[in-house]
Amino acid sequence: MAKTDLEIAQECVMEPIEKVAAKIGIPADSLEHYGKYKAKLSFDYLKSIENNPHGKLVLVTAINPTKAGEGKSTTTVGLGDALNRLGKKTMMALREPSLGPVFGLKGGATGGGYAQVVPMEDINLHFTGDMHAITTANNLVSACLDNVIHQGNELNIDPEKVTFKRCLDMNDRTLRNITIGCGAKANGVERKDGFNITVASEIMAALCLADDLMDLKKRFGKMLVAYTYDDKPVYVHDLGIEGALAMVMKDAVLPNIVQTLEHNPALIHGGPFANIAHGCNSVIATKACLELADYTVTEAGFGADLGAEKFLDIKCRLADLKPNAVVIVATIRALKQHGGIALEDLKEENVEAMLAGCENLAKHIDTVQQFGLPYIVAINEFVTDTPAEVAALEKWCEENNHPMSLSQVWAKGGEGAIDLANKVVALCDQENNYAPLYDLDKTIEEKIETIAKKVYGADGVDFTEEAQSQIAKFNELGWDKLPICMAKTQMSLSDDGKVMGRPTGFRITVRELRPSLGAGFIVALTGKVLTMPGLPKHPSALDMDVDEDGKIVGLF
Ligand code: ADP
Repeated sequence: MAKTDLEIAQECVMEPIEKVAAKIGIPADSLEHYGKYKAKLSFDYLKSIENNPHGKLVLVTAINPTKAGEGKSTTTVGLGDALNRLGKKTMMALREPSLGPVFGLKGGATGGGYAQVVPMEDINLHFTGDMHAITTANNLVSACLDNVIHQGNELNIDPEKVTFKRCLDMNDRTLRNITIGCGAKANGVERKDGFNITVASEIMAALCLADDLMDLKKRFGKMLVAYTYDDKPVYVHDLGIEGALAMVMKDAVLPNIVQTLEHNPALIHGGPFANIAHGCNSVIATKACLELADYTVTEAGFGADLGAEKFLDIKCRLADLKPNAVVIVATIRALKQHGGIALEDLKEENVEAMLAGCENLAKHIDTVQQFGLPYIVAINEFVTDTPAEVAALEKWCEENNHPMSLSQVWAKGGEGAIDLANKVVALCDQENNYAPLYDLDKTIEEKIETIAKKVYGADGVDFTEEAQSQIAKFNELGWDKLPICMAKTQMSLSDDGKVMGRPTGFRITVRELRPSLGAGFIVALTGKVLTMPGLPKHPSALDMDVDEDGKIVGLF
């Protein structure tokens, strides 16, 4: 039987983190150690490298995934290891896992098979405490806000118009809608509230788009928390706590360095939800990688319709990053799903269904082309893929002139992506015409329509009455020049998660807009998007344990 991700990770004899950091030229005294194998890059060191020229930036994205994920993190790590094997100075910039999915269904976010970052248990559990800091900062906002209401409500906050929720890094559906302040008057003012999962907190999104701690403090000040009885916005700045929030985040703002199974350095920092937020690791970490390495490989959540679009329209624009190439991960099993095969039958060979499902891949390629970037399709090989399916997919790519490479990083580590790495290097040498898809001075409606038509292939967008009145209000308040962060199902190009392949003749419905003014974008919600997931009937937690020596079992 194949070894689990955890067993493979536990077999790795890790190198001390200062040795890994030295490979990329990071001096030992620039590290703030969290044990032997994890460290943060120090504040002073980050400042000292900020004028270094940038290396090449490679984005790893994917087609619309099956429920399990299609291997973006795995490919990011494997490709980084492969580039290092070719002698290219390469770092990886990854997202921090959330404990919600760890105990739920999907697994961690440290890659898989022989393409992983370690120490995998620590990274997936408490790591260096960033999630704790974000949760604390978020809940400090809520506590102070409810305290203002309780202590005479000088800010005239309408308890029914509080927009900021509490958070917890756990999948717990019972906290989606709650009532707080119940009982005696001394318990505060009773009102309806709810929890987001920590990674969906705006604190996380702001962290991931901030340039440094002072910029983060400014962003905190701008976060909208409520409206007054006469409908005026109330910001964190009005609560007077952006300084305290920045203080809580003083260490969390520093990127974390760990190693791959092949002892190459990776920065893991920040992990905003890819639906309600922009789904990319922090700008601080990405820039540090670009300043230190010749190649930086990074990932963006879900498929290219969500993660890549936001990486290219939000993150790269706001942080002035110049991407060089895009790797589009596709799996034969997900292509078969797009060709109409049910999840439980994906292991059966079906060349015809897979070829039908290639239309989903074709749409994501089209999206990347519209951003003016060179791309390559990486077929993430599974043991269930049959030679006939692989050959047919290779032929499809060849006939349609799409560069491709069969990636075997899950089974072989960096060695399994030498061909992919060579092709990525060649792509990075090409000139490109990267540009975001829309101008910020377009109207909110125009920006959303551009994304829906160009990226999802929709005919147009319908705005509910609520969305229309919110847009009118945002225009009045001068929030209309921000980029748009679409919240949409990751399963489909449309806003209906059951529609596979490449749908045509459909419209997108925007039901609500939420200003994330600290992060610096407007969230447009389509369909049902949950910001607090629930656990499945058999949560992964049931299979996890730790023995008397502290050895963990069952963590994927
Ligand atoms: P994503 O980043 O797209 O969400 P991940 O890289 O995190 O996906 O992988 C999701 C899960 O799938 C992980 O548990 C990983 O071990 C597994 N996986 C990825 N690639 C393969 C593969 N080629 N064969 C088998 N399992 C894989």
